[in-house]
Amino acid sequence: MSNLEQTLSIIKPDAVERNLENEIKEMFKNKGFNIVKEKKIQIEKAEAEKFYKVHETKPFYNDLCAYLSSGPIVVMVIEKENAVLANRDLMGATNPKDAADGTIRKKYGISIDKNSVHGSDSIDNAKIEIDFFFKD
Ligand code: UDP
Ligand code: MG
Repeated sequence: MSNLEQTLSIIKPDAVERNLENEIKEMFKNKGFNIVKEKKIQIEKAEAEKFYKVHETKPFYNDLCAYLSSGPIVVMVIEKENAVLANRDLMGATNPKDAADGTIRKKYGISIDKNSVHGSDSIDNAKIEIDFFFKD
């Protein structure tokens, strides 16, 4: 049975800064993802605070929001069968040290905060996050 899904991926400032945008997009394409929408933007800290509101009580929240708004990011809607889970698999663990071989974070992540990519963690959040960046 077909279960085509869309999810939100962000190439974070550490990766854009190191010119990894094309390499990371190739990893998505090689896994069968179609990039259906994309834009390179820089967001304000207040926007990052809204985007990461679920983490507002965490000790890393302020640094996280400062970081996400610190430079250009590439925001993408990516699509394939079971895209939400498939993207989490391809990203790897939050801490690159724990990420499996073949994952984006294993290959490119620098540290738990500079871990190169964001991906929605559920189908509901994928819809919310896609709307956050692409609702016109
Ligand atoms: N993060 C951090 N320190 C931590 C945990 C998370 O800086 O101890 C950052 C990291 O960039 C991570 C983001 O906060 O990607 C969101 O955390 P989450 O637990 O949702 O991880 P993710 O879904 O990105 O794997
Ligand atoms: Mg998360």
